Amino acid sequence: MISVENLHKRFDSLEVLHGINLTIEKGKTAVIIGPSGSGKTTLLRCLNLLEIPNEGKISLGDKSIVLTNNSKLASAEVTSFRQQTGMVFQNYNLFPHLTAVENVMEGQIVVLKRSKAEAKTKALHLLEKVGLLERAEMYPHQLSGGQQQRVGIARAMAMDPAVLLFDEPTSALDPELVGEVLKVIKDLAEEGMTMVVVTHEMQFARDVADQVIFMDQGKIIEKGSPEEIFNNTNNPRMSQFLNKVIAR
Ligand code: ADP
Ligand code: MG
Repeated sequence: MISVENLHKRFDSLEVLHGINLTIEKGKTAVIIGPSGSGKTTLLRCLNLLEIPNEGKISLGDKSIVLTNNSKLASAEVTSFRQQTGMVFQNYNLFPHLTAVENVMEGQIVVLKRSKAEAKTKALHLLEKVGLLERAEMYPHQLSGGQQQRVGIARAMAMDPAVLLFDEPTSALDPELVGEVLKVIKDLAEEGMTMVVVTHEMQFARDVADQVIFMDQGKIIEKGSPEEIFNNTNNPRMSQFLNKVIAR
């Protein structure tokens, strides 16, 4: 469902992804962990072509792209590839001048050319699913961070993506609001959504991940089931990272 082969990304002379390989099967959840600066965000942004990789192959849903050092992608190709993904950002990135329901309608109308009525029906259904139907007419500033992030998830789902990508979806939240957002993501995992989640929430990773991927310095150092990863004390870089995160 998602496959990445030999993915390289450079910013000028700085190479930040050094040949990433991974496979995530349809309906599975992969959780990416690793220290700050290890390339987690860049990898997610490459998966939906918000960053264009320098080299490598990405297959996602029913589309594939292959990049070699000088290749350029046509913008139509980028757009159709990106439409297969939904991205949930650390800082929600909602439109401040639109209500919750309008935020969930916007992409459906502009990108997918759905009618307003159709977009609204779908938006209200998704807001109900994330527990926010009664707040549909509120603006982002009238919502808590946890509620805004749940709108962000509904907005990503509204595009019917093959894959949902989450970049530290709870790291901007007050601790008491983290659970309500993780619960929504966990429900999606149980429904068989294909997801890649970057997070520092290790208990969540243990509970929800089919596969845990540990990145360090632009490489995947370890990948495996939560049991394999969290009980692996052989890798010093990973033990050091886990000790730090758990000590927080
Ligand atoms: P993480 O999400 O794991 O913290 P990032 O993917 O954000 O890591 O960053 C990986 C490395 O790439 C860092 O050294 C960061 O400074 C660098 N980087 C990220 N985005 C850019 C950019 N647009 N231009 C230059 N360097 C970047
Ligand atoms: Mg990041």
